Order: sequence, then C-alpha cells, then structure tokens
Amino acid sequence: MSESEGNASTEAIHAEQIHKRFGALEVLKGVNLSARKGDVVAIIGGSGSGKSTFLRCLNCLDHPTSGSLRINGEEVRFKPDGHGDLAPASRQQIRQLRSRLAMVFQNFNLWQHRTLLENMIEAPVHVLGVPRKQAIEEGKRLLDRVGLNDKHDAYPAFLSGGQQQRAAIARALAVDPLAMLFDEPTSALDPELVGEVLKVIQSLADEGRTMILVTHEMAFARDVATRVVFFHNGVVEEEGPPSEFFSNPQSERLQKFLSNFN
Ligand code: ADP
Ligand code: MG
Repeated sequence: MSESEGNASTEAIHAEQIHKRFGALEVLKGVNLSARKGDVVAIIGGSGSGKSTFLRCLNCLDHPTSGSLRINGEEVRFKPDGHGDLAPASRQQIRQLRSRLAMVFQNFNLWQHRTLLENMIEAPVHVLGVPRKQAIEEGKRLLDRVGLNDKHDAYPAFLSGGQQQRAAIARALAVDPLAMLFDEPTSALDPELVGEVLKVIQSLADEGRTMILVTHEMAFARDVATRVVFFHNGVVEEEGPPSEFFSNPQSERLQKFLSNFN
C-alpha cells in the first residue's frame, strides 16, 4: 500500500475538501469527513446546509466539483464529466461505489411496480451478479430481519411508510455494504411510525455497522452516534462525540441550532 492510501483495515470513508456547485451556487465549500469501520456518524444542520448533497457526493449520485474520496482505503478514481464536475472514472468504479455505500432515502424510493422481494434481489442479481436463487434466500432473510416476514410478496403501495422504510433498509443491506448512508430516514413518517424505523437502525448500530446518518432526531443521534457533525453553509462547522457535542457546543451557531430542539 502506498503512503497516499488509507488504512483499509480501520478506515471506511475519508472525504477531503469536497466541493460542489450547482451553477453559481456553491453548496459544499470544502467538506472534510471520515468514518472508521463501526462508526456511526450523525450529521445535523439546518435546511439547505448541504447535508443531502454531501451524502449524494459520497456515492456519486451527485458529481462533486472537486475533492478526493477514499472508500475502504482505496482512492475513488474520477474523470471530468464534461459539465465542470467529476464523475467516477469507470462503470466498474460506479458499481463498486454503489455497492459499498448503500443509501436509504427520506422517501424510501422502493420500486413501486415490484414486490418487496423483487426489490430485494434487483441490485444483488443485476449489479453484483449474485445467483438469483441465492439472492432470493438472502432477500427473504433480510426482510424477516426487519420484521416484514409476512410481506415478501406485497407491493410497496400497500404498506405503511414505516414498513416501506424498513424494506428500504433491508434492500440497502442486500448488497452487504461497507457503510450505509441514511438521509433523514424518518422525516417523511407519521410520528407513530418513527420508532419502528429507529429501532432497526439502532440494531444495525449495535451490530457494528458503519453508518452516516443525516437526522433531525437529536435524542436518537445522541444515543446512537459515535460522532456528531454539524453542517453549516456547506462546511463542517463543529464535530465531536455526542456527550460533548450536545452538552458543550462551542460555536454560537451550533448553540443556536440546538436550542431549536429543546
Ligand atoms: P440539506 O440536505 O442540508 O437540506 P441540500 O444538500 O439538499 O441541503 O441542498 C443544499 C443547497 O443545494 C440548497 O440550496 C439546494 O436548493 C441546492 N441544491 C440541491 N440539489 C440541487 C440541484 N440538483 N440543483 C440545484 N441546486 C440544488
Ligand atoms: Mg436534505
């Protein structure tokens, strides 16, 4: 391993100086963020501070304008995308990124015209080349794990938001990702359904899954995170272990932001 590469045995994600513009608007202004294996990094911050864009830059759903990214100790190779931003250098690179960093979205994003089990096997079979029979077995096991044992053949529209989000989490697990990226996974849910989804996320944390979690659930962030990061205006304004971060915020901006949740 060369000196410029990270330590793949402990480091999961290392993002350095990530910039992202949309036209004249610079949304990310040099974000530095790392996660070691087993870390649960909670990202908080006001609306429009760049949290979603940052997650989307990590797996290149959005193309960063500049910056560098190491996943599992390996540098992500980029090439100019022709629009002033950076695209992954190859299809193989994209495939690897998407299976290493599995995303769970606010609005579940399940394929509506497919059953839950069909949703489960899509990426393993078509992206990773897992044999169909094996993908089905694993898909069933993961749906059972998130409490959807009687819903394998149901279509998403017939499920509650909490059930759909649990299925989306199971689907993210189906590619056996290095890390999971959650973008406000409970924000679209009715209040009475939030708990069942947080419980699943908590169980993943308990088993040592690496996660980056954008959330407005401050109590949950305090309980589950190993580190909390505050985004403001496209940069990391402050970060720390939850005990210090919440009880002794340093910057005035973070103090003010946290006061909204008391
Ligand atoms: P957050 O998740 O913290 O609320 P976002 O990352 O979604 O913030 O958005 C940050 C800023 O980037 C916002 O001003 C938003 O309007 C802008 N933005 C996000 N995506 C796009 C896009 N595809 N095109 C143009 N502007 C965008
Ligand atoms: Mg967002």
